[in-house]
Amino acid sequence: MSEKLFYTDRYMTDFDGTVLSCTEDKKGWAIVLDQTAFYPEGGGQPCDRGVMCWGENTALINDVREKSGQVVHYSDTAIPEGTQVHGTIDWDRRFDMMQQHTGEHIFSGVVNSMFGYNNVGFHLSEKDNVVDFDGPMTKEDIKAVMDRCNAEIWANRPVIAGYPENVKELEYRSKKELSGPIRIVSAGNADTCACCGTHTSTTAQAGPVVAISSMAYKGGTRINILCGRRAVEYLKQRNDDCYAISHQLSAPVEKITDAVAARMAEIDQLKYRLAGARRQLMAVWAEKAEVTDGLCIMVSENLRSNEILQLTQMLAGKANTALVYSPQQDTNGKLCIISTEKDTNKLGRHISATLGGKGGGKPGTYQGFVEKETDADMLSALVKSFQ
Ligand SMILES: [Zn+2]
Repeated sequence: MSEKLFYTDRYMTDFDGTVLSCTEDKKGWAIVLDQTAFYPEGGGQPCDRGVMCWGENTALINDVREKSGQVVHYSDTAIPEGTQVHGTIDWDRRFDMMQQHTGEHIFSGVVNSMFGYNNVGFHLSEKDNVVDFDGPMTKEDIKAVMDRCNAEIWANRPVIAGYPENVKELEYRSKKELSGPIRIVSAGNADTCACCGTHTSTTAQAGPVVAISSMAYKGGTRINILCGRRAVEYLKQRNDDCYAISHQLSAPVEKITDAVAARMAEIDQLKYRLAGARRQLMAVWAEKAEVTDGLCIMVSENLRSNEILQLTQMLAGKANTALVYSPQQDTNGKLCIISTEKDTNKLGRHISATLGGKGGGKPGTYQGFVEKETDADMLSALVKSFQ
């Protein structure tokens, strides 16, 4: 059985070991050492990565699993049995995982003591630290939890992991019934939990803890948290975003929410005025449009669907049958027909038979699209050929 150095010293970054076995399987070369500081995936915490060196040689360790109590390191390079290796773990990755995992314990413990909810799901990866709780929480509840977590962090209390003798008398969080020796991790005054992961040695080293989003999930709450360096990196980026918006709006950064609201109101005003101006313009077009044998056809590029309908309604005021065709920049041309004398749905289908596309609508009004490009002459000929 290989000795788990990550439990004797969670801050061990490199170590010496001897290769006990090296066998090939589906995932590559499976290497077992007499002792290792590489943490295998477990307790929701992803495994360590790193290298093993011997002589002039280096093997990359890209996955580590625990199998029947053995820590198995996976590499694309074989290392002969009996070789003395020097292992070095990717400490940035491990310390990040320790910060996330410890922060998650503090957060879950605080939620449990404030609301009585249990952590019923935990997903930790290089990007995500997601925790599910079995009860509803408001945004204000979550802010209160964050405050309590960070107070615990600033108190800088020890995080102790081990196998206490009085485990039967202890109250601790656990997702499942456990048997055999139970490893208990207590994170300051915030939490006591059964866990096999690696954690920082004090609560302070996991901080700050920030909840960045939450959603209702299976009757409870799913919360995305960020701890330690991840939280700081995230806040740096959001700060940059805020200053970029502040610069674009020429507003002080602490007033960007008001400035965005004012800009949105201005845009609504402009949209309203633009729609009025477009209606006036279409009224001028309609007035000038020619009617031949009760038919009025107009072609105008890039009209919006509501504008096409408005313009056709205006033309229908002076013709028995009005048709507006609007070629669109990125999609099929749009078509609207209003008629008091023809079955508009049948006329629409008659046009589609030649130009492709489809549409529909209530009797007297047809709205649709055509696939082939067309023009007023072609449309006029199609309407005239409709019986
Ligand atoms: Zn844990």
